[in-house]
Amino acid sequence: MSARILDGTAIAAQIRSELSSRAAAFARRAGRQPGLSIVLVGDKPDSQIYVNSKLKSAGDEGMKATLSHLPASAPLDEIVSLVRALNAESTTDGILVQAPLPDSLGATAMQAVFDAIDPSKDVDGVTPANVGRLVQNRADLMACTPAGIMEMLRRSNIDIAGRHAVVIGRSDIVGKPVSMLLLHHHATVTICHSRTQDLPRVAATADILVAALGRPGFVRRPFVKPGATVIDVGINLVTDASVAAEIFHENHPRRGLFERKGSVLVGDVHPEVAEVAGAMTPVPGGVGPLTIAMLMANTIKAAELRAIR
Ligand code: NAP
Repeated sequence: MSARILDGTAIAAQIRSELSSRAAAFARRAGRQPGLSIVLVGDKPDSQIYVNSKLKSAGDEGMKATLSHLPASAPLDEIVSLVRALNAESTTDGILVQAPLPDSLGATAMQAVFDAIDPSKDVDGVTPANVGRLVQNRADLMACTPAGIMEMLRRSNIDIAGRHAVVIGRSDIVGKPVSMLLLHHHATVTICHSRTQDLPRVAATADILVAALGRPGFVRRPFVKPGATVIDVGINLVTDASVAAEIFHENHPRRGLFERKGSVLVGDVHPEVAEVAGAMTPVPGGVGPLTIAMLMANTIKAAELRAIR
């Protein structure tokens, strides 16, 4: 048996075409495009790649996206002041501060910056107000990756109510919010983390298994109940040939890619899981494209809600 592949690229394209018409309708009513402001601090190459794809996607969907790029040496006060200025700017509907901030700002800086964002413009779902509303099942704006996972399950006709969902990972940005959303959709939810004992046994009780731990190819066949839906959130850049060989057999096309480029993107789920799962998401082309689509959805929603407030 080979799992049905849940094609995130195709689902994201469907969502984005729906958003383009909503953005155009907003622009006709408001006399301006929905506005997304992105704040990037420092020059981390992967952050720059993520930011560029968000800027491009916003332009493609008929939104006005602007980038404020601060140097890695920018003090916390300056970043918070910039966020406050964007809060006050009437043409900015959504604010996204690209994580992570430079390590030199300290462990609490990211949340201090998130705390400064006006919750009505919080298109990344990171403010305490929006996290609280998510817990109470009345969120307008929620974290994009968890929202994308739910959209993927809904549009792929995967039943959630009454099913056992196991989420591996308890981060604020993925594990906790997706667990909460699955609970609101009436799954029975188990959250696992690095201290969970006998993880393969717990994971193998899942009808829906979400892997969000950031360990390449970690979820192997014994973790998966036959027929389960497996959502692979992980995005790991593998540069070590022995790790690539452990994950991709000799004739696998992605092994060939590694040999040509010296690196390959790998999820948290080992490809052998396709032999036992009922459905699974690929990496790349699974959850990633939905994360960006949901950022666009949040921006349009924020613009629409601000217009009627
Ligand atoms: P994170 O903040 O590093 O959290 C990782 C979580 O996994 C933690 O809760 C940790 O447990 C748990 N964990 C780590 N090793 C484990 C192990 N051996 N067994 C069980 N649990 C373990 O990560 P994140 O931000 O949620 O991201 C997770 C992955 O998703 C990363 O690869 C990231 O790049 C990717 N990601 C992808 C998207 C997308 O759009 N596709 C978006 C966001 C993130 P403890 O809490 O006990 O330490």
